Amino acid sequence: MLYYMETKNMNPYEIVNSARRWVGSSWKMVPVDSIAWCGDRERGGLWYPPHDGHGARIELGREEGIDLVYHEAFHSVWHDCPLAKFDPWWGEGFCNAFSETMRNCYFDYHVPEVRPLTQHERNYLHPCYLLCHKALFDPSHLRYFFLRMNAEAQQLERPVLSEFFQWSPDPSWTFNTENPS
Ligand SMILES: [Zn+2]
Repeated sequence: MLYYMETKNMNPYEIVNSARRWVGSSWKMVPVDSIAWCGDRERGGLWYPPHDGHGARIELGREEGIDLVYHEAFHSVWHDCPLAKFDPWWGEGFCNAFSETMRNCYFDYHVPEVRPLTQHERNYLHPCYLLCHKALFDPSHLRYFFLRMNAEAQQLERPVLSEFFQWSPDPSWTFNTENPS
């Protein structure tokens, strides 16, 4: 299966469709009703959950390119999944990993050896790095891992990603084999 698409002149809703195709028809993805570039903010993206019968809304800073839609669209895949309930800290990293593997374009991140991770590295860059390596930089492998971990989280009702990687974006997380919580 080939997921990579040229993003130049791309319709942003087609990126949402690519996330839907990636996850497959068996998965309930939150619909995205609107994608807008906003004049009052330069950078960053926001994903607003559905409300009052409307689907999700994506807002991008006016300087942002269309590539950020991959990250924001994945929030719609993530929102209702078992991992979001049991491993909530992994959402941003998964959004980044989806975006980078789909675009085949990777942030130049190296695990720092002489200092602790910043919170931005913990939330976004480091989990993305772990997920991309686990998936061998292949979006179909990432999908397989996503579905498998969701099935495990649903069955075991505990944070399976943090156990799998022996690490969590949550700085207070500790691994406890006797009493996983
Ligand atoms: Zn995000």
